[in-house]
Order: sequence, then structure tokens, then C-alpha cells
Amino acid sequence: MNSALSRKGEGILFNAATLTLPDVAPCGIELVHSLNPACGPVTPIRRQYLKIKEAYRDSIVLFRMGDFYETFDDDAKLVARELDITLTGRSLGKNLRVPMAGVPAHSVDSYLARLVRKGHQVAICEQLSDPAASKGLVDRDVVRVVTPGTVFEDSLLDQRANNYLAAVFVRGGLAGLAYADITTGEFAATQLPLEQLPLELGRIAPAEVLATEADALTIATADAQWRASAIDDAPFEYRQAEAALLSCFRIHTLESFGCEDLPLAVSAAGAIVDYLDRTRPATNSAKGAKVQLNNLAVYSAHQYMALDARTRRNLELFEGGRGEQRELSVLAAIDRTRTVLGSRLLRRWLGQPLLDLTALERRLDAVDSFYRDGLARGAVSSALAGVADLERIMGRVVSGTVAPRELLALKTGLDALPELRERVAGLGDALQWLHSELLPAPEVAALIEAAIEPEPSGSVGEGGVIRRGFSARIDELKDASVNARQYIAGLEQKERERTGVRALKVGYNQVFGYYIEIPKSQIGGLPDDYQRRQTLTNAERYIVPDLKEYESRVLTAREELAVEEEETYRRICAQVAESARHIACAAAAIAQVDVFCGLAQTAVDSGYVRPVVDAGPDIRIREGRHPVVERVLASGEYVPNDVELSGDARVLVLTGPNMAGKSTYIRQVALITLLAQVGSFVPAAEARIGIVDRIFTRVGLQDDLATGQSTFMVEMVETAAILNQATPRSLLILDEIGRGTSTYDGLSIARAVIEHLHNDPRLGCKTLFATHYHELTQLAASLPGVRNFSVAVAEEGSEVVFLHRIIPGGADKSYGVHVARLAGLPQGVINRAWEVLTDLESQVGNSRRRATRAAPSQQLALFAPGSELADTVRGLDVPNMTPLEALNKLYELQEQANSQP
Ligand code: ADP
Repeated sequence: MNSALSRKGEGILFNAATLTLPDVAPCGIELVHSLNPACGPVTPIRRQYLKIKEAYRDSIVLFRMGDFYETFDDDAKLVARELDITLTGRSLGKNLRVPMAGVPAHSVDSYLARLVRKGHQVAICEQLSDPAASKGLVDRDVVRVVTPGTVFEDSLLDQRANNYLAAVFVRGGLAGLAYADITTGEFAATQLPLEQLPLELGRIAPAEVLATEADALTIATADAQWRASAIDDAPFEYRQAEAALLSCFRIHTLESFGCEDLPLAVSAAGAIVDYLDRTRPATNSAKGAKVQLNNLAVYSAHQYMALDARTRRNLELFEGGRGEQRELSVLAAIDRTRTVLGSRLLRRWLGQPLLDLTALERRLDAVDSFYRDGLARGAVSSALAGVADLERIMGRVVSGTVAPRELLALKTGLDALPELRERVAGLGDALQWLHSELLPAPEVAALIEAAIEPEPSGSVGEGGVIRRGFSARIDELKDASVNARQYIAGLEQKERERTGVRALKVGYNQVFGYYIEIPKSQIGGLPDDYQRRQTLTNAERYIVPDLKEYESRVLTAREELAVEEEETYRRICAQVAESARHIACAAAAIAQVDVFCGLAQTAVDSGYVRPVVDAGPDIRIREGRHPVVERVLASGEYVPNDVELSGDARVLVLTGPNMAGKSTYIRQVALITLLAQVGSFVPAAEARIGIVDRIFTRVGLQDDLATGQSTFMVEMVETAAILNQATPRSLLILDEIGRGTSTYDGLSIARAVIEHLHNDPRLGCKTLFATHYHELTQLAASLPGVRNFSVAVAEEGSEVVFLHRIIPGGADKSYGVHVARLAGLPQGVINRAWEVLTDLESQVGNSRRRATRAAPSQQLALFAPGSELADTVRGLDVPNMTPLEALNKLYELQEQANSQP
């Protein structure tokens, strides 16, 4: 532990000499450790600790003692190790040594954050009675158990993302799933086939998942990514779960939630409510106040486009680039929201595109309205700029932990409502529904305005929070305190005159309170009522009855003020909390306005258009662009491309050299589709999107050759999953499938996959297939639904320019050395490669080279099964070769080739 931090009375904790002291020492210090049970009785506080620890065996118990939270025994060892703080502990008698480690109360949040982030569960045990007023042992109990899904400390939260607690309940082949964000009150539940559970969990990405012990195993088996914490079965039991929900929402029936036929969803939702109650067992402490959840939103996973974790990653929805940077993600490319409310909502929407046309049209209409009205956009955007995180602030109002400044921020947010409402009304009928949700809350705003100082102090109870004029009693107490202090200030002059001592000073310290200080040289002849209190080297300190009288007035006023201010503040918060649902609704509406206005701004700034979405089977995009890649390039450099997946043309095989833009193209089609189904405008000149139920992506791990067979295995398992799950409405993005194995295997698999996609009557899904296997272009001849495309390349002498333009027809040549140059291989190596290549070409003969170009499949003959060359090439450890070694090897092969007839 930081050596600067010391505990009051720490020294006596393990001091054998103090064992005979009563449990509460006269100075108010309690003894945690007494005798070894083996040697005699334990002190009550040790008993208190052990009893609490017994009830929270799975948690680290932070035991509040004065200004510190202490941990003991094994908890102390663990905490000392995890937080890198000093483990203290002393021998207590012969056989007892109790380890202890503690953290100061004022900075407990950051320690808590570190423990929770490391996956620990922490029980916070508070002092529930005033130590000064307690006769015996101070009451203590756990007020909160902090787990990854139940934190609300800012230090532990990402402002721009939700923090979800989820619960899963499995019966037969079905799963109930519920999740809640306690900081915003969001609460939702669904019931779905078990095999869809990993997908839905992936979308929600909860910080913590609860399940029964048996279900925890099932979940882990379904997808190793999700580990659930096992809890009791009872809270999942239908009756108990229903009762928990009814009492949470103070209602008599769950009918209004629409979950009558979804018993597993009810079980999961009930378990969440129960868990939240149990992690906040003591309610009479501000720190443990109950969580307020919004009404349970029951939904069907069929409402949303399915996106698995891999697809979200491959499409770089939330993180992009090699370093998984947020700023290179699709989210960053489209996010022009002004509030954290909006940015959290946009993040959610991007992860769950819609399937319902009416809902989509509604969103698109809203974006369109903002798109057309630049004035409204500007006004709304500046009105939003001052809106704070109303959802999380309201969460803290309800749980009683809100700071005065946050109340003011809440008011500023509420103040924006009338303006927003007016602007939205001005945008016409398309936004009428939103208009009616943007209900101002003038009473709440007025209350905060009247009650809270414009520049409030951080802590309540010091007189700096409640505004003058709000409470006559508080004003009176403040005046009394000020008057008394003024009187004391005036006393200095008065006493100087009375005593004739010009150097007389009135001062104050913590121990003696107010005093009069007189230099030692002048203490002769002081009035009789001067009583000496303290002697310093050069001065004496006195009190006089007047001084003490006014001091007590100051103190009494201060104490009463503290109580009165705290009480008043609590009352104000409670009053604001009554509008919690109203404000939650307004906050949700603000978030939507922010997202719509932001998406419109993106559309204007980046030249997006409104897509036409329909129920048809086609996807047609004219001059589409990749939203992220186009931002990275200089303006005008991005080459737009069309796509047409319609009628017969369902499978596009895209060939072309590396770095030509194949991956970018196939991803851009997926992203434009996805953005359209989020309700956003899209980077294209024109787009018509037939609703897609699921986007699958499978990307060959070209950068990961080293992992060899296992990579290939992963690739095949994923491809199998796609082939099993795709429907005719799905969109498949397959990039370099089969690359992780030898040419023949890879080619055969890639070909078989395309044939299957094309021929299986269940499938017929739209597919974009990028490959460097030129041989696959032959498929178009035999499969009517397959179309060949390639990336145009211009050759100018020895220079090759990738045009990034997608043109009909297959490619017939790869440009390895050109790519090597583009990738920045040293010029010497490149020159040598040209030499070798030219040499090779001249020896093989131009005619033969041309023949190879015309019939690419003949390239394969080079690697006929069992050929020596194939074996040699297979045996090369390419990832670990330097370019020079590779060239030497190539040279060697060339020599061999030359020596053959
Ligand atoms: P491939 O998949 O063919 O190897 P990529 O799709 O990874 O190629 O694209 C390589 C690079 O080419 C991209 O990083 C981008 O800078 C550029 N690029 C791709 N498509 C375009 C385009 N349509 N317009 C301009 N530059 C592009």
C-alpha cells in the first residue's frame, strides 16, 4: 500500500497488549481481531466480519472501518496481489495471524474498477450507524455486490456503449434471454431457439451472463466465447420469476409486456430482477439504493438481421484497421451524433439492422426530413450539443447517488426539449411520432433551477448546494452561521481594544476550535475571563465565554445545516425521480433525434443517398463506395463501383490481383445493404436493397499462413456453418476461401462451395466470392447463376496501375512483383525479382506464357499430383523465408526446370 496512507489506530489492531481492551476502545477504534478462536473468544467485530464474509463467500468483502475499506484473511492476500498494495498483518498470540490489506475510502472507486475488471466480484460492506453515536459495535452490512454487469461507477463504464447484465434460461431446444443496463434502465427479453443464442449474445455483448449451473454448461458448449456465472435455480423458476417482475414494476399481471407465451423469457427476466435485488441487499444506504429498470421490452430476434461476431469484425463495424481502432470503423464513419445518448443508440442500431419494412421506412423518412432541411439540422445539432447523459444521470437520481452538478446537467438537457420538439414539429408529418415523445418536463427543470446553486459545491451538507430562496430554514441557518462568524471576526478588534494587545489574533483549529492568541511577552494583565487552553513556544492561546458562545452557534448552525441540506437534497432527488419514466422516454426520443440528424449530416457531408428498400430478392447498387476506405483516401480517389445481384445472377465470382480492391468491393456491398437496413442513407449514387435476413462473411486468413492446418480447419468449420444456415434471403461474402491449404485442395473446396451455393434448392442466396484462383472463372460456363467479374488493371510498360474498377469477365494474370513493389520491398529485391521473372519468361518462351494467359487452368499442370515440383513447393516454409531466400529458391527451381527437356 501507498506508505503515505495510514489508518487511524492501525497500530493497535494486532497488538497483543490491547487484547484486554473492550471491543470499542475509548477513542472509538474498534478491534477487528481478538483472540485466536483456539485460544479464546473472538471480538464482536471479528464475529461481525466473519458472519458477513460467510454470507458473501464468493465475493471479496470490502469492510468499511472509518476512512478505509479493509480486507482480511484470504481476501487480503488476493487484494494485495491484485492491486499491488501492501499486505499487513501481525502475530496475534501464538497461532493466529490475520492478514489485512485496505484501501482508502475516498479512492475506493478506482480500486474497485481494477478488481472488477480482473473478473472479481466485490461486496461492499458499509457502516450503517454513525460510529460517533454508536454505543457498542457499529452496524455494518453489505450494501452492494459489484459485478461486471452491475457497475455504475463512471470509471468502469464506457460512455458510448451500454454495459449489459444478461440472464439465460434453457429448456429443451429453446432459450429465454433477458438483459438489462442498470445505468440507463434498459431492460429487454426474448425467447429463441437455442442455436441462435450465441448469435444474440454476440449482438448484446453482455459484461456478465447469469444462468443455472446446468445451463452455464450448455451455454459454454454452444459457444465457448460465453461463460455464464452459475447462480441458484430458484430465481429462474417461473412463479418466482413472475413474482419478482410483478413486484419490480408494481403491477398485477405481465400481460402488458406481451410475454404470456414466452415463459423462458419471463424466467430470465425475473432472474435479473432477483439478482439486482440480491446485489443490493441493504436499502437504507445511498450506496445500495435499488436500481430502477424501464418497462420490460419483449422482442423477437427475428425482428433483426442476424450478424455473427465474425461478420461484425470482418465488416469492421465497431473497430477497424490492424490495431482494432475505433476511428477506422464503420461506426466512426457514420457517427455524427452530438450526445452520448445518440452515440449509444447508433451503436445499438448498427449491430441490429431491421427486417421490418415499415419500421425501416419510418427511420429513412426521419433521416430524409433532416437531410432536406439544413436549417433544422443546424438548429437541432446545436440544441443537442448541451444535452448530457440523461439516461445515466436519471439512473443515479433514482439510486440516490446523483451529484448536484449532474442535476444541473439534467436540467440543461431538459431545457433543450421544447426547442427540439418545435424543430421536429417543423419537419412535418414524417416525424409526428417522435414529436409526441419529446415531452418537455418543465416542472422538473423548474425545480432544479430553483433548488440548486448555479455553481454547487461537490458534496452535499456544506451549505453550498441549495440555492438561496428555496428553503427558508436553510437560509436562516446559513445566515446564523455567517452572522456568528462575522461576530467572531469582529471580536478580534473588540478584544484588542479591551486588552490593549495590538498583536491579539483570533484563530481556529480542528482540535480547540476558535481561540484568541496572544504573544507570550504580552500576557500580563489579561482580563479574568481569559482561560488558557494551549501553550506554544512564543504565544498562549485563550478562550473567552463570548467566543465559545458564538463558536457553538456556528457549530450548531453548521450541523443543522448539514442535516437540513442533505434532507432537502434527498427530497429534491426523490421528486425528480418521480418523473423517471417520463424523462427516460424523453431521453430515448432525444437519442433518436440525435441519430436521425447525425445520419442526415453524414449523408450530406459524405454524399450518401436514400436507399430504396423493398421485399424483393434483388440488390442493385450504382456507384457504391466503401464508407471507411473512401474516408481514408484523398477526396475523389475512391473509384465507385456498381453491383447487380438480380434475377439469375446470384453468385458473383470476382477475380483479380492482390491489392486490386476485391475485398473492399465485396465488403462495400455488404455494408451498403447493412446501412440501408439500419435506416441510414448509403454511400452510392443509387441503391435498391431487397431485405436481407442475414449477412455471412467468411474471410480467408491470408495474413495468418503460419497457423497452417488449424486455420484451414477453422475456415472449413465456418464455411460449413454458413452452408447450413443461409437462407435464400441471406447475403454471403466469401473472401479467399480455401486459401489456407494447398492449391489443389483449396481450389476444389472453393469450387465445391460455389456449386453447392448455386445448386442447393434451399439456398440460392446472394453470394459475392472473391478469389485469386483464376480457374474458378470457368464455373460461369456451367452454372447459369454465376457471373464473372474482375478488377481492371492498366499496364503501362513495366508499370501496373490498379484501376479498382470492377468489370465483367475473369482476370487472367496475377501481379505479384508489382504488389511487392507497392508493399515497399527494397528496390534491389524488386529489381532482382524482375530479372529472375524476365529470365524465366524468356526461357519458358513468350508463346507459352501467352498460352498460359489464355487458358489459366493449365497453370495447374505445373503442380500435377505427385510431381516433384509440387512436393518441393509444398515443403517450403514461406512465412519464415526472407525475400532473398525466396528468390534463391526460385532461382534453384529455375535451374532445375532448365535442366529438364
Ligand atoms: P484485394 O482484396 O484485392 O487484395 P483490397 O480490397 O484489400 O484488395 O484493396 C487494397 C487497397 O486498394 C485498399 O486498401 C484501398 O486503399 C485500395 N482500394 C480498394 N478499392 C478501391 C477503390 N474502389 N477505389 C480506390 N482505392 C481502392
